[in-house]
Amino acid sequence: MDPRLEKYAKLLIHVGINVQPGQTLVINCPVDKAPFARMLTREAYLAGAREVVMRWSDQFISRETYLHAADEIFDSFRPWQADMLNTLAREGAAFLSIDSSDPDGMNGIDHSRMVRQSRVFGPAVREYREMQMADKVQWCIAALPEENWAKKMFPGVPEDEAMAKLMDSICATMRITEDNDPVEAWREHNAALNDRKRKLTDFNFKSLHYKNALGTDLVIELPEGHYWDGGNSTSARGVKFNANMPTEEIFTAPRRDGVNGRVVSTKPFDVGGVLIPRFAFTFQNGKIVGVEAEDPHHRELLEAEIALDEGASYLGEVALVPYDSPISRMDTLFYNTLFDENASCHLAFGASYPTVTGGADMTEEERKERGLNQSITHEDFMVGSADLSIVGTTRDGREIPVFVDGNFAI
Ligand code: ZN
Ligand code: ZN
Repeated sequence: MDPRLEKYAKLLIHVGINVQPGQTLVINCPVDKAPFARMLTREAYLAGAREVVMRWSDQFISRETYLHAADEIFDSFRPWQADMLNTLAREGAAFLSIDSSDPDGMNGIDHSRMVRQSRVFGPAVREYREMQMADKVQWCIAALPEENWAKKMFPGVPEDEAMAKLMDSICATMRITEDNDPVEAWREHNAALNDRKRKLTDFNFKSLHYKNALGTDLVIELPEGHYWDGGNSTSARGVKFNANMPTEEIFTAPRRDGVNGRVVSTKPFDVGGVLIPRFAFTFQNGKIVGVEAEDPHHRELLEAEIALDEGASYLGEVALVPYDSPISRMDTLFYNTLFDENASCHLAFGASYPTVTGGADMTEEERKERGLNQSITHEDFMVGSADLSIVGTTRDGREIPVFVDGNFAI
């Protein structure tokens, strides 16, 4: 067995989810990665976990369900499934998810079945979702290699070799080498990200103006009292954790009604396993009023995504990632948002994280008043490029270059 896996499990338990003595840990993991789930479980109990609750998944079975199950099941759900997640969140459990899936594993399914399912299940698990979005509970998502994923990333090489290359790539992004202490490496990395988010928060920008040669020309207003988040977060109980590993981004929320102009995507966008190579959104007073994609089918998929509910056609996240960040420099397309979002500045349509002062404790109504978007969806799409410029305008009218040629200028 790869000795880096032990380090990886320790890193996820001590930095990623940072499970506390006496705390319940929920682990989501594909069944064929059971050996890794066992390592995580052992590490969690060594760290003093009260109980590890396993939730096994299997992409093949999910796919068969979407393909062949009776149509009416996608319009209903079993209340106990929602109750389980809501109860665990209320009890203060931590949620660790391992993603190890084929990026094309859901190709060919009827996407509307997925959409209908999230429409009924989304509102039922609102309590759990909101506690997670507000970082009240610790949560963490990380990835492990999967055969079809590896073959897609490294075509033309034997499967074993592709899997080894993918493991190397994941370890590079996770700052794991054979002779380092990744827990220490992540303490330093988190400190550097914290420094950058403090600087940006202090500017208290009124708006950011994005421009590049692809045709992006977008002004995004930011709510009064917003702050920049990223790196590690702090739960309601004061526990630090890294929600996404790897992570290179600093992010905040836009003003729901304050986005105007056009933005062009710069990396493939995944809709239920279909990769959309490039698209553009046009915004008016926050709402997406125009969708462009070369392939009409791709445009339809995007239009369905942003029609999921009222908030799905408004932005919920503004994230900055330098063009020369480590993952960007690898210049490898992972076909997985967890990695690819760290290679590029991105935006998300759908729900925002409550990144305004006091936001985590506000009611839905109060958040809306502060200009934050709400939705049952949240989808990142990449907009960074080597020539991206972002100019921030402060509340007293000063213009500050934030990004020049794809990288931080402050
Ligand atoms: Zn993000
Ligand atoms: Zn996001």
